[in-house]
Amino acid sequence: MGRNNLKHYITEIRNGNSFFDEKLIHRNAVLLFSALHALMAVFFLLAGAYIQFALCVMLPLTYTAVTASLIKQERYMACYMVTHAEILIAVVILILMSGWDCSFDTYLFASVTASFYFTFINQNKKKDPKMGWIPLILSSFSILTFFILWILCRTFYAAFPNGFAPFAHPVWIDILYIFNTIVSFGLIIVFSYLFVWELKNRQKVLTVQNEQLDELAHKDSLTRLLNRRSMDAIIAQRMQELKISGKRFTMILGDIDDFKRVNDTYGHDAGDMVLVAVANTISSTVRSNDAVCRWGGEEILVLVDDPMNSASMAAERIRKNIEQMEVDFEGKKIKVTMTFGISESIPGYKIEHLIQQADDKLYYGKKHGKNQVVTKLDES
Ligand code: GH3
Ligand code: MG
Ligand code: MG
Repeated sequence: MGRNNLKHYITEIRNGNSFFDEKLIHRNAVLLFSALHALMAVFFLLAGAYIQFALCVMLPLTYTAVTASLIKQERYMACYMVTHAEILIAVVILILMSGWDCSFDTYLFASVTASFYFTFINQNKKKDPKMGWIPLILSSFSILTFFILWILCRTFYAAFPNGFAPFAHPVWIDILYIFNTIVSFGLIIVFSYLFVWELKNRQKVLTVQNEQLDELAHKDSLTRLLNRRSMDAIIAQRMQELKISGKRFTMILGDIDDFKRVNDTYGHDAGDMVLVAVANTISSTVRSNDAVCRWGGEEILVLVDDPMNSASMAAERIRKNIEQMEVDFEGKKIKVTMTFGISESIPGYKIEHLIQQADDKLYYGKKHGKNQVVTKLDES
């Protein structure tokens, strides 16, 4: 990963547009643990503690080889379990060799936080609820190790106060105490922070997905108009309002004239394009609080809060705008017209009546020349 790529990746994560790449995070965790061992190896070498030095060279070499192979196979949870086991083994040996006072036991606390974090990021991918037990089991091992070591150190304290392979100079105990405590706190902070970051990012993604689902559930995918289901709900709500407060509304049902011919002449894609253009023209002609819905194939239903006379003017505006509209499809200009039937809500009327009325008027308009707005059957 180049520097610019890395910068872009971090920005994406910070903005909540991406998650940490599992391979990257496990590889970096292994590198971090190995680097920690390497640093300790230097300490032990300087302190003349050669057994601990040998351990800090041998153990990470084996550990890195095993985890590298697991990462290659994308067995990330196994990789963390090996890491957890490695922490416990290293802590046991180092405490037995150097004594309790070097504060190696603090890594056991850090391992609890790490086990929850790594299980969480791996569990989320596998969606396996049973994995919830893993960090509890791993943490139990850490606690058990802590107490066994504590008992062992107390038991052998009289004979070996600074472990079985003590440092030549006691100052190294203090240096290691400070180093181990700081690193352990650091690890706890890092894993807790990463955990919070993961959760925040997941929450952000869920919000976006919810919005998309909401859009899918309520909107028509081609025209982005409301779908029939959401229009049914809106009509039912308006009927309720009509019953309670007498607030009237009007339905404008429009159907594209000779749309089959558009499809037959220019193809289905051109037909789709015309449908989208018609939807956009209608949406931009009516007011933003009027509900526009794709009622059927090329039928569009508009619900306006006006009485019949102003609704018919709105329908006339729509009709004119559609008539003037030109759709450019592969260099060809396609023009269409629309016929409209309008019905006004009347208290006591049923939804089906209203729709039937608008449909009858629309049908009448189709029979009598198309490209018109029909408000009354007898007059049109
Ligand atoms: P008129 O309404 O003027 O009587 O004639 P028409 O040709 O429009 O009549 P009809 O309702 O019989 O045909 C509608 C056509 O609309 C048939 C169908 O293939 C087409 N159609 C419906 N939905 C879509 C769509 O999503 N995309 C495309 N391209 N065509 C569609
Ligand atoms: Mg039609
Ligand atoms: Mg039709």
